[in-house]
Amino acid sequence: MAEPWETRREKILRLLKETETPLSTDQISLLLEIDRKDVYEDLVHIARSLHKSRWQLIMFPPRCLKCGYVFSSDKPKKPSKCPKCRGERVSDPLFKVISR
Ligand SMILES: [Zn+2]
Repeated sequence: MAEPWETRREKILRLLKETETPLSTDQISLLLEIDRKDVYEDLVHIARSLHKSRWQLIMFPPRCLKCGYVFSSDKPKKPSKCPKCRGERVSDPLFKVISR
């Protein structure tokens, strides 16, 4: 599936365009065999590089699994604690690339 000449970021971009359902950074890292900490960095870069294109990286924000608080951060990082209830079980942010 992955073409050998594609860069890591191109692979992520293509995966997020082709996927039917939004993916977490864990899934991206597993599917493409990329270190998870690189995925976050690449997503920030991809979001920036798509700024003026017809594509858009969208993030489904993380949610507290205890009280349902939805994080509004626009950074693709998984928060460690809920600011509302201090719960530590937080769902993964999910990503997908859509055309505008
Ligand atoms: Zn909470």
